[in-house]
Amino acid sequence: MLHGGCLCGAIRYTTDGVPYHESICHCSICRRASGAPFVAWFSVPRQSLSLVSGAPGWFRSSPAAERGFCARCGTALFFRSSAHPDEIDITTASLDDPALVPPRDEIYTETRIAWLATLPRLPSFAAAREQAAPPRPPTPA
Ligand SMILES: [Zn+2]
Ligand SMILES: [Zn+2]
Repeated sequence: MLHGGCLCGAIRYTTDGVPYHESICHCSICRRASGAPFVAWFSVPRQSLSLVSGAPGWFRSSPAAERGFCARCGTALFFRSSAHPDEIDITTASLDDPALVPPRDEIYTETRIAWLATLPRLPSFAAAREQAAPPRPPTPA
């Protein structure tokens, strides 16, 4: 059983479905809908999803598809398409424990943001940068 919900807690869900199509999506619609560089998703049978509390708002993001979100806090939660009526996609990062559903592939990489490739080379901090920032190099006058 997987448990998840939105940031404010208004929407809580569970699913006892076996996840499939665990993917990171780089499409421009996911990017815009989430405000994030990419979105991790997994699919389950639609009837395996139970809303424990709240009800999502739905936005039609393309002629065949709608995206479910918390109308109070804005968390992106679900994707459903009339092309796959027995299926619903859930944002992996809305799970209480996203580590339980690791991605197995990446899709729409033709629109992946180029700078994602630089992430392994960026300075990293275990917590907020302000806590551990190294001295800035002198700025040329
Ligand atoms: Zn919420
Ligand atoms: Zn996408």
